[in-house]
Amino acid sequence: MNIILLGPPGAGKGTQAAFITQLKKVPHISTGDIFRSNVKEGTALGKKVQGYMDQGLLVPDEVVVELIADRLTWPDVQKGFMLDGFPRSITQAKALEETLDAMGKKIDAVINIEVDFSILTERITGRRVCKNCGATTHIKYLDDKAENKCTECGGELYQRADDSEETVKKRLVEYEEKTHPLTEYYREKNVLINIDGQQDIKDVTHDIESALK
Ligand code: ADP
Ligand code: AMP
Repeated sequence: MNIILLGPPGAGKGTQAAFITQLKKVPHISTGDIFRSNVKEGTALGKKVQGYMDQGLLVPDEVVVELIADRLTWPDVQKGFMLDGFPRSITQAKALEETLDAMGKKIDAVINIEVDFSILTERITGRRVCKNCGATTHIKYLDDKAENKCTECGGELYQRADDSEETVKKRLVEYEEKTHPLTEYYREKNVLINIDGQQDIKDVTHDIESALK
């Protein structure tokens, strides 16, 4: 199954992807994760994208489109894939369609996780990521907030550079202007599935699982 996870920053895409990729046995392809690891390694791609990410702006379409076109040639996508954070503009969606057409593939479902904008800032600024296993959590889920340890593996947690309140504002504007139109785009293609992302994490997972059956 070929799936797209759509929704504003902080909607819970990464959190849900961790469950759904296990369930569907497909690779989780997150453009944000790929960019962050390139920034960390100091690659040419990392140097190209860091400024945009730090400012809360979308990386130019051609950079992301090239990255995904390459990623979709890997053998692990034969059985399907889950895209998280891509596409983020109509241009990217059209380019994805062309790439998939050429491969004789199509998108089967677009899971649109809906969350009210008023709670996104609190979710994003409280987000913490494990340096060791990459799991995402929120400070509200940590029993001992001072300890700052991953509940999955005990690894050290860190805050993403772009998860500051100031950058979040810009990321939400970028979402509204460039990414939100994708909901209409995929609704017209009859592949859009809206999911209430304001429920408990396990209830969101349950709804996504049911929708993908
Ligand atoms: P995205 O990948 O869409 O940017 P994340 O999955 O990283 O979002 O989630 C953003 C933050 O919100 C994280 O700190 C996560 O723990 C928290 N979160 C995710 N889903 C929920 C939920 N259903 N209820 C409350 N908090 C959530
Ligand atoms: P994310 O991890 O999905 O929140 O993405 C973090 C940042 O990476 C975004 O704010 C953008 O700067 C960049 N990015 C990730 N995916 C894309 C994309 N599909 N198009 C443009 N920029 C992206």
